[in-house]
Amino acid sequence: DLDSSAALDDARQRLREVFGHDDFRGRQPDVLVRVLAGQSTLAVMPTGAGKSLTYQLPATMLHGTCVVISPLIALMHDQLRAARADGIRAATLTSADSDWRETMDAFRAGELDLLYVAPERASQPSFCDLLTAAPLALFAIDEAHCVSEWGHDFRPDYRQLRPLMDRFGDIPRLALTATADAHTRADILEQLGIPQDGLVVAGFDRPSIHYAIRHRDNPVRQLTTLMGEQPGPGIVYAPTRRKVEDLAAKLAAATGREVLPYHAGLDPHVRAENQARFVASEDMVMVATIAFGMGIDKPDVRFVAHASIPKSIEAYYQETGRAGRDGDPSLALMLWGAEDFARARMRLAEVPEDRQAGDRQRLDSLASLVETAGCRRAVLLRHFGEDPPGQCGNCDNCLDAPGVVDVTELARKFLSAAYRTGQSFGFGHLQKVLTGAEDDRVRQREHDRLSVFGIVDGEDAAMLRPVSRALQARGSLVATEHGGLALGGDAKDILKGDTPVMIVKPPKKERRSRRSRAG
Ligand code: ADP
Ligand code: ZN
Repeated sequence: DLDSSAALDDARQRLREVFGHDDFRGRQPDVLVRVLAGQSTLAVMPTGAGKSLTYQLPATMLHGTCVVISPLIALMHDQLRAARADGIRAATLTSADSDWRETMDAFRAGELDLLYVAPERASQPSFCDLLTAAPLALFAIDEAHCVSEWGHDFRPDYRQLRPLMDRFGDIPRLALTATADAHTRADILEQLGIPQDGLVVAGFDRPSIHYAIRHRDNPVRQLTTLMGEQPGPGIVYAPTRRKVEDLAAKLAAATGREVLPYHAGLDPHVRAENQARFVASEDMVMVATIAFGMGIDKPDVRFVAHASIPKSIEAYYQETGRAGRDGDPSLALMLWGAEDFARARMRLAEVPEDRQAGDRQRLDSLASLVETAGCRRAVLLRHFGEDPPGQCGNCDNCLDAPGVVDVTELARKFLSAAYRTGQSFGFGHLQKVLTGAEDDRVRQREHDRLSVFGIVDGEDAAMLRPVSRALQARGSLVATEHGGLALGGDAKDILKGDTPVMIVKPPKKERRSRRSRAG
């Protein structure tokens, strides 16, 4: 409308004068319009999309100070330097600062555009008093996923922000994060008191990256082939120090290329040296644990490979995002094995109870990406809340559609078992019921008396896991908070026989392997 386009024109003017940028990027305007109109907002955008600008710019336009809550002091000081370089009146209040008095005086006098504080400040009564005595424009909450136990980086201090901000109810809030799946996003909105329609998500697509995900049968051969097809620098992520060393040695021997290892167990000098060589090199391959990559600025990485599954879709996106920052074509290859998932599921039992549901959901989402017969990019972008076209034309499945099998009957049996057992049991229990396993828990619940008991056998039994995962991928089955599976989406249509279910054909050896016992 007229108001918002006028506000945006003003903002664009400022963008040029203060920041020296020609125009907005991606969905920055959508966020800015809301913020300038005083509407609380959650902006989910990938790293580098320009989130900081969406509060820094309003901070220079609105009356009063924008209070920025940010969890990392080092980061805060970087931002402080950058903001001051742009002529923005900014300050920090952290344990590392000695100029508290001046900062507080300036804040109270309305002489600050931006004030950066750590979240632990928020719980201190003195800080609330300080806010009362100063003109406020906006609360900006950086790394907002820290407020959610569903996120991967929960910080209890973030929970103190809502009560604090509620005392200044007419000051708008802007929460920012690069990593938030649907669940975490909903949680952030609730925890920070931001309305549902205040969500702005965008800019996750990396069109120059080709995504490919394959079953791992011979990683050294598969990675050697990749290195042949894709010259130029590359990163191979491996799960353990031992695997890093092993793969680096074997790939070097197999390809004759320079391949170096990188992990936290190496001598710091060696590590720094390997990293420096990688950054300077035009064809070196680094085999590394995920310790490698953070803060490395190398735009011409031509491939990122995963020798086993990453931790989550977020991690996959972030790690593969290190490829092709120069915009030239690059490749992301994931090699996965059933044992990766089995191990990850086993590890679920070891994480604190309150985090298990979130971790399980993250693993299921990753499994959906691995198992999909459809476009990988579409799954990725949908995960980040975007609404992509069904086909990208630049992933393995788009370019070479995999074989699919009709598992409609098995899917109906599975859904029926979930329904008849009360939609509160996980895969393991449903599998036992369907295959007629001798099991105390099954008997105690009298699930051996259900019509679905023992109706699946032989080869079909080994297909239950892929079927379950496919059903979760399409939302016909949804994981409950307690790890059970409940009917969702089009489950009723499948049960009625109105909707067929097709899945990617699992490799032959998988169809009769440990897979069915693994999880
Ligand atoms: P994020 O916080 O989303 O990771 P930053 O706010 O650090 O991203 O911005 C990343 C880079 O993009 C910064 O160097 C910033 O100056 C630049 N940038 C932000 N917005 C624009 C824009 N509209 N035009 C050009 N560059 C921009
Ligand atoms: Zn695709």
